[in-house]
Amino acid sequence: MIHETTIILFAGEGGQGVQTIAEVTAALAIGKGYNATYIPYFGVEQRGASSIAYVIISKGTIYYPRFDDADIIVVMRERALKDIKRFITPNTDVIFDSSTIEAKDIHKIATKTIGFPGSKYALTKFGAKSYNLLVLGVIGNYLGFDKTELWENVFEKLKSKFKSKEIEEKNKLALEFGAKIVLEKGEYSKAEFKADLGDKLYRNKEREGIIKPSLCKGCLICVEKCPVGALSKGSEVGFFGANIPDLNIEKCITCGICKRFCPDGAVAVEKR
Ligand code: SF4
Ligand code: SF4
Repeated sequence: MIHETTIILFAGEGGQGVQTIAEVTAALAIGKGYNATYIPYFGVEQRGASSIAYVIISKGTIYYPRFDDADIIVVMRERALKDIKRFITPNTDVIFDSSTIEAKDIHKIATKTIGFPGSKYALTKFGAKSYNLLVLGVIGNYLGFDKTELWENVFEKLKSKFKSKEIEEKNKLALEFGAKIVLEKGEYSKAEFKADLGDKLYRNKEREGIIKPSLCKGCLICVEKCPVGALSKGSEVGFFGANIPDLNIEKCITCGICKRFCPDGAVAVEKR
């Protein structure tokens, strides 16, 4: 439910997912006649910070797009908990992915908590890439958007990303499913899809690199784009069940191409 002014913080880990969800939420509100702002904030992910987005929806003028206290926080990954703490007040509704975040960890920092087992449903029913749409369904429903209207607006905004009719249909189903999920209060799903797999770190005298198995979807775009063959398909499997790349730090020339092309913020190499 959107009030006179509703202040929402979205928090997750790496990649564009969090930002897409936040940006589309703001666009949906504008479509409904509200004023809305969206400001992305990417932490220093290499040091484990999360990806955060500020959204304000208001019937009146929005004078400043950032804030200290949130009405609603949507948190998708455990690692983001430390970064959302300072935005929580006794009145903040913290909506969390209960299939990746332990309820006891949320309760250490928030009193008003609402769960949705988003990762579980995305991974078991629609595939990892439908996660964003499923979360948009959850949030859209929570804010009171009509399901059909929700899809029409989301489709308009994201249609260039749906490369085939099949992908479009899957995302539509994920969004509609998300909008129907019964939110959990008091009793939560088991956090059986924990994403904190531990980062793979690489280092030599000149550079250091990171690959995040919890974010990597195994698309291997980075392997394809690396100009010197420093990345290759590895034998380890990441959170999404696909083989993740391996990095030969000695071959790397720190060009930054892998980081630029990775759609999920799962790889980076920097000079030391
Ligand atoms: S570009 Fe590379 S690191 Fe990024 S998701 Fe694809 S395989 Fe993983
Ligand atoms: S920084 Fe450049 S050379 Fe190094 S792994 Fe990435 S794409 Fe390859």
